[in-house]
Amino acid sequence: MKVRFKCPQCGIGRLQEVTTNVIEYTIVTGVTESDDIVAMEYGDVSHENYGDFDYYSCTHCDYELPPATSVELFDWLKENNMLEAE
Ligand SMILES: [Zn+2]
Repeated sequence: MKVRFKCPQCGIGRLQEVTTNVIEYTIVTGVTESDDIVAMEYGDVSHENYGDFDYYSCTHCDYELPPATSVELFDWLKENNMLEAE
């Protein structure tokens, strides 16, 4: 099912999962310099630690959703009519 999230607080943000304690390695493949601004180009990404799930929130206003698990999130989205069949 597709998520049609509408933030209860601001109405415009997207739904995000917040994860802490991530350890990530990203291969650096290139650099571009212009006017003292350096832009990096990246390759493959790998993880030593995928991190710990923390909470679900809105990308715009940081409203923290009540669900604390994926099952609770599914039920909450269903109750609030934010799921759409694909
Ligand atoms: Zn919001």
